[in-house]
Amino acid sequence: MTILDGRATSNTIKEEIAEAVKKLKEEGKKTPHLAAILVGTDGASMTYVNAKVKACEKVGFNSTLIDLPEDSTEEQLLHEISDLNKDNDIDGFIVQLPLPKQIDEQKILMAVHPDKDVDGFHPVNVGKMTLELPTFLPATPFGIMQLLERYNVETSGKNVVVIGRSNIVGRPMSILLSQKRSFGNATVTVAHSRTKNLEELCQNADIIVAALGIPEFLTGAMVKEGVTIIDVGITRIKDETKKRGYRLAGDVHFESVSKKASFITPVPGGVGPMTIAMLLKNTLLSCERRSV
Ligand code: NAD
Repeated sequence: MTILDGRATSNTIKEEIAEAVKKLKEEGKKTPHLAAILVGTDGASMTYVNAKVKACEKVGFNSTLIDLPEDSTEEQLLHEISDLNKDNDIDGFIVQLPLPKQIDEQKILMAVHPDKDVDGFHPVNVGKMTLELPTFLPATPFGIMQLLERYNVETSGKNVVVIGRSNIVGRPMSILLSQKRSFGNATVTVAHSRTKNLEELCQNADIIVAALGIPEFLTGAMVKEGVTIIDVGITRIKDETKKRGYRLAGDVHFESVSKKASFITPVPGGVGPMTIAMLLKNTLLSCERRSV
């Protein structure tokens, strides 16, 4: 059994990015600049945004964090987005999700200029991804594709079950894996909350991407010997024995599933760190494109 080590792989990718940034600076070119908008004080969102800002510093990017209060209006947020769209120094920006109830998430994601949409959530970029045109791939699926590639996990002709059909993970993951591309060419089934025969589907899968958000949902009894497991889930579970009061759990029951798996991502240290690395990669790409 091989652990798909997202922490180590993301560090390698960050070193590659840092090297590219160093070269840009030596050539007198622009330093990549990523901005993030955070609305409110949700604990997990604050952790993610801070990790993204810290990662920017590590690779030599400039970063800007825009903190807005929980009771911000849609207009205020749209105003910030419009400013970032116009700001020539900003190569890419993200709006941390989820947003407070008074704000229409779809409207916000549509307002981000597609050329600065380094999260790859804008319909224009989703369309380009679907048509296999060059674009920003959404960071989590992009990170998973990189893990498969860097560990040389064969996907061509394999049966893949993606559990979850969200716009940011399950759906794009299923599209990328089924495309005619390296580390694609798989036969993909998308399972979701209405799927009736999930256990049977999983037992026949060569690769399972678990992205449903239910801790330790996938157990050893549900998978076959030699399966490759990508665990996307991150849920905070109350744990008084931990200093921070919680532990992180994936969607996979690691102990039982890892006994049968040939490749598996741990939680934490699997898909999570890859997501941040790919956000940086998209920002670098945007900076390079804009300075041509
Ligand atoms: P979501 O809530 O938007 O979607 C969950 C999906 O799971 C839905 O499509 C739903 O139909 C499906 N589902 C729910 N119950 C099911 C069941 N019993 N059987 C089969 N399918 C079921 O979630 P999301 O935003 O895609 O996130 C999923 C998980 O991944 C969460 O734990 C989230 O925190 C995590 N996540 C991690 C990263 C990362 O960087 N590692 C990034 C994004 C999301």
